[in-house]
Amino acid sequence: VLKARNLAKAFGSNVVLRDIDVDIRRGQVVALIGPSGSGKTTVLRSLNGLEIPDGGTVTFGNSDGGGELAIDFGTKVGKKDLAALRDRSAMVFQHYNLFPHMTVLKNITEGPIQVQKRPRAEAIAEAERLLERVGLADKRDAYPFELSGGQQQRVGIVRALALKPQLLLFDEPTSALDPELVGEVLGVIKELAEEGWTMVIVTHELAFAQHVADEVIFMDGGVVVERGPAAEVLRAPTQERTKLFVKRLQ
Ligand code: ATP
Repeated sequence: VLKARNLAKAFGSNVVLRDIDVDIRRGQVVALIGPSGSGKTTVLRSLNGLEIPDGGTVTFGNSDGGGELAIDFGTKVGKKDLAALRDRSAMVFQHYNLFPHMTVLKNITEGPIQVQKRPRAEAIAEAERLLERVGLADKRDAYPFELSGGQQQRVGIVRALALKPQLLLFDEPTSALDPELVGEVLGVIKELAEEGWTMVIVTHELAFAQHVADEVIFMDGGVVVERGPAAEVLRAPTQERTKLFVKRLQ
């Protein structure tokens, strides 16, 4: 579905990404792991244009047989291309990022109705179906502050699903949660993986990554140090830096 090549990004003199390549095939789950500040979030945000890299390319193949979208960040990126890139994926944020003044239902249907111009009744029916799925049908009219962190994040996931993206991006989806709430969110993500959703997950949950990811990419200092099947990278890494990281967290 997606191919990124030579992504580069600096914030002032702080070079945070160098020569990052990412390949994501349809139905694949890729886990992005690495120490704090290694650039994982910046990679994720670059894949959907929330962050504009200084250089590199992102190519999106349309799995429905439509045209390819190719963006070269080395040249000035047009608004249309950027909008098209953002439209293909949906992000689940660490801090949920729900609109505090909107009900759960409105949070979910706002994008489909206002941005994607889908019929209101259809968007509401879809939101209700998805809420039911994650066990939150009765929270439809609640406001985010009335929900636990785990419930808010499940709404965050439903909001992403409602956009019907080709690719789901998760940015440390459980790291803001109390430990007892982590499981309910990981459970939903695992179900989505089993259903065949294409996903990139930035996570510190290595056991979870091993469980759901087809491929693991280990980053450190803005570069990809090691990548490969989850079992290999997490259980039998070849690079010293990966070994140290994996050991510390398991
Ligand atoms: P963490 O696990 O802590 O979230 P990370 O691996 O996701 O870390 P990034 O969030 O991608 O790392 O950050 C990489 C580097 O880029 C850090 O040094 C960070 O301070 C810097 N950085 C990220 N976003 C910005 C920004 N908007 N402006 C300036 N510097 C930034």
